[in-house]
Amino acid sequence: MTADHEERRLDDRAAWVRRAEGLALATQHRVAGKDEAGSGAAFPVVSPRDGRVLATVADGGAAEIDLAVGAARTAFDAGPWPRLAPAERGRALLRLADLVEEHRNDLALTVSLENGKPVTESYGVELRAVAQTFRWYGQLADKLHDTAPHTDPGAFALVSREPAGVVGAVVPWNFPLSLAAWKVAPALAAGCACVLKPSELTPLSALALGRLADEAGLPAGVLNVVAGDGPTAGRALGSHPDVDVLAFTGSTAVGRHFLRYAADSNLKRVWLELGGKSPNLVLPDAPDLEAAASAAAAGIFFNQGEMCTAPSRLLVHASVADQVVESVVARARALRVGDPLDPATEMGAVAGEARLATVLGHIASGRAAGARLRTGGERLARVPGGTYLEPTVFDRVTPDMRLSREEIFGPVLSVLTFETLDEAVRVANDTEYGLAAAVWSSDLTTVHRLSRALRAGTVWVNCYEEGDLTVPFGGYKQSGNGRDKSVHALEKYTELKTTWIRL
Ligand code: NAD
Repeated sequence: MTADHEERRLDDRAAWVRRAEGLALATQHRVAGKDEAGSGAAFPVVSPRDGRVLATVADGGAAEIDLAVGAARTAFDAGPWPRLAPAERGRALLRLADLVEEHRNDLALTVSLENGKPVTESYGVELRAVAQTFRWYGQLADKLHDTAPHTDPGAFALVSREPAGVVGAVVPWNFPLSLAAWKVAPALAAGCACVLKPSELTPLSALALGRLADEAGLPAGVLNVVAGDGPTAGRALGSHPDVDVLAFTGSTAVGRHFLRYAADSNLKRVWLELGGKSPNLVLPDAPDLEAAASAAAAGIFFNQGEMCTAPSRLLVHASVADQVVESVVARARALRVGDPLDPATEMGAVAGEARLATVLGHIASGRAAGARLRTGGERLARVPGGTYLEPTVFDRVTPDMRLSREEIFGPVLSVLTFETLDEAVRVANDTEYGLAAAVWSSDLTTVHRLSRALRAGTVWVNCYEEGDLTVPFGGYKQSGNGRDKSVHALEKYTELKTTWIRL
């Protein structure tokens, strides 16, 4: 990346609002390097910021998915992409990373308008991750190698990784661009061709990415983007006989559908990144209880709590519970909830009326079950028409309550206490999910024992939500299978081939 590629983030609300008014949004599918209107059907995309319709977007169904899969099939079977020198594929991904940087303000704005998150976070977290992801896999493309195991001396064996073919990627709305990048960047680096279906709540940023991929010089059909809803376009992609791999991020319930679609079609490989109910264990010997409280609050309220890894169950030792919970509650009350386009905002709007109603339903269930509401719980009027919610903390939560068991996917923290480590582990693992967990302790032995005992794809120690592209990300149990990020992501988009030669 060159310095002049990096746009400077705008730093006042009026400038973002002005930019939003003049923002040109892509509203058609992107197939085979061209805009594609499809059948002409269209659906509105509503901004959680103020309830206004941002754009009317082409509504893809089976026909549009079929067109896009056909374009990807042709690009894979007959096009140059899988046959290019890997370094050349890598250079195209680096150009795409540069273009993302160049359009960073507009892409960040698009994400915040369609999803409701603060624009400072879209810019600083999401768009940074998107550019880094394309750059990381672009740089990795020509550093992969096959292996030649030591076989019987009369033979030579080559174990090679080949691109798996046409990849369908279906992603949610909470990180509409970075989760798309986590799928398509490694798939493209491996030499696959992709069809991306974003969430119907947030198709605009993904449609913009499709255009940038073509501008970066990816051959036509290598990255196609089709907007549409889950039960129609998502299902058509999951069921398509010409899709070799389906990479999904979303809810556990919809993950099950994709396994069924594969079983009922062509047994395509299905990789799932699903929900979570992550436990955050605070022990009395934590190196810094204030740091633990700060991370607990930052973790659950970041991105309006719409995080698969949100530390939604705070498991705190009874001896320090009062101190830690007081601090978390104070931080919740101090959080600035407001207009996503105001750079001072720390928590924006939850992603629309339907999501808000679901989260309020969880809050009502906590009240009815006898959990104690320490703060929050009410809708806020911030920008008229928008869907804003107070940061919410319940304590006296027990493991059997819905607050402990179901993914809320909103800014709602459930606090449980424990007396012994065995009890903490039992409660922490008492969930169908296994995405992430955290432990706060100064004792090396305790930390290792707990890390081994916790059934989760990531265990953070004395921190939360940290990491970079070098480490794999994914879940145990019903939080999914396979891993995004790191070199391990390439395993999802490649097939292993053995060539055995008799000498
Ligand atoms: P969702 O499962 O409702 O939707 C995700 C995607 O699937 C969307 O593109 C949607 O259109 C599509 N879809 C919905 N119903 C479908 C169907 N019947 N057939 C085919 N496709 C269908 O999830 P969401 O509400 O968009 O996102 C929230 C969920 O995503 C949460 O459960 C969260 O934990 C999970 N998530 C997981 C990760 C992770 O990496 N593990 C990351 C972010 C979000």
